Amino acid sequence: MQKINSNFIAGAWVPSVDVLKNINPSDTNDVIGEFASAAVSETEQAIDSAFAAFPAWSRSSPQLRHDMLKNVGDEILVRKEELGRLLSREEGKTLAEGVAEVVRAGQIFQFYAGESLRIAGDRLDSARTNVEIEIAREAVGVVGLITPWNFPIAIPAWKIAPALAYGNCVVFKPAELVPASAHALTEILARSGIPEGVFNLVPWQVSVAGQTILNSAKVAAVSFTGSVATGRKIAQSCVLSSPMKKMQLEMGGKNPLIVLDDADLDFAIECAVNGAYFATGQRCTASSRLIVTENIHDRFVAGLSERIRELVVDHALKADSQMGPVVDQKQFDQDNEYIRVGIDEGAKLSVGGEQLKRGTPGFYLSPALFTEANNDMRIAREEIFGPIAAVIRVADYESALQVANDTEFGLSAGICTTSLKYAQHFKRNSEAGTVMVNLPTAGTDYFAPFGGRKGSSYGSREQGRYAVEFYTTVKTAYTTS
Ligand code: ADP
Repeated sequence: MQKINSNFIAGAWVPSVDVLKNINPSDTNDVIGEFASAAVSETEQAIDSAFAAFPAWSRSSPQLRHDMLKNVGDEILVRKEELGRLLSREEGKTLAEGVAEVVRAGQIFQFYAGESLRIAGDRLDSARTNVEIEIAREAVGVVGLITPWNFPIAIPAWKIAPALAYGNCVVFKPAELVPASAHALTEILARSGIPEGVFNLVPWQVSVAGQTILNSAKVAAVSFTGSVATGRKIAQSCVLSSPMKKMQLEMGGKNPLIVLDDADLDFAIECAVNGAYFATGQRCTASSRLIVTENIHDRFVAGLSERIRELVVDHALKADSQMGPVVDQKQFDQDNEYIRVGIDEGAKLSVGGEQLKRGTPGFYLSPALFTEANNDMRIAREEIFGPIAAVIRVADYESALQVANDTEFGLSAGICTTSLKYAQHFKRNSEAGTVMVNLPTAGTDYFAPFGGRKGSSYGSREQGRYAVEFYTTVKTAYTTS
């Protein structure tokens, strides 16, 4: 067991009095390590050091920021196998998924290395003679980054990298369940050439220091990914703090995948398997509502059920595992509760939803498929965040679209069809931030904007060049000579 017990504050590793054990969900006897749990005072020190570092960092050479971010990206990519293994060990996604996520994180750092050289402004002629207007983007200040457990390195990467590229200082708070990836990423950042105080890791527990970042006048902005309930609390705190904070919230999804009669059946089944069950269904873009038209319904359900039964659920690090365990006991209990709720509501549990015994003690659940569901059921309205999907039968495309949009969420939505007419109509009329045609609802590119509508997101988009909106603020300067 590695014994790691530190925050990273003002360029130094600072031990915490409290530590948290990091447990492998594929094997609860495997303790990955003990990791810092920051106190209020440590979180305040981190904020102070970021605040002190901001004036110099925000005016630093873009070349410096480029080189530093590129160093980080390069090292992540070189160490993808090792970091992927660590990630899968602590989060439970398969090794292939873990390595792929690490690669994505490396690519994100490399992308934003380039972006730090491309911070462009604008110029206008004033309505007044001999006056010119310059519009510049400047760093926001100290940003608090709060991340969830389901993408332990990619989500931190897509917040930290743009924050630093555009000249902000960071106080990073990873999720309690995945401190090892956060720690490994911090080690890489620490030796990348980053100046003292620019980046700080303080894995505080909500019960200990939950409000510290949110209440601090020195924190200018908060970017959060997690549940709707927490997002709402964070939003309230950001608005009530003085000065009010800029905020960006990425929250849940209840993502529909429509399968029309004219879809390529095998292709639609693969989209559903990938979208609903890969990464154990623990993705905010997972397909949890499979909205299927009448004539293809039975063939789709039969084919999908067969594929689900074939999925190998086992220890995340086993070479032949196709689906790892659920992340922890709490999530496992919640999944089982939703399976009970679905049955009580009158949906039919067609496949799976059973606790599985494997060679090591872990949170193994067989992928579950409900059929005969309707869109009013709780299993069709609430985010479950597990390997559970529900098939909703509809008459035609028009009702499929209506059901797909009948949700408080709007993160991702997909359609499987060979009809250009329906594909185009869906792209235009879906109320989601991300629309997928003949693709799973999950699986996005790191250089394209990512985010949702309605209850799924609040604030500007993450990732790609769109991240500049959140991590900079615009200054309009008028000059006459
Ligand atoms: P999940 O269900 O994915 O764990 P949460 O929204 O509970 O989603 O957690 C996402 C992140 O937000 C985690 O890092 C968690 O510690 C943090 N968090 C949870 N509650 C609060 C809160 N009240 N204030 C600030 N951060 C919080």
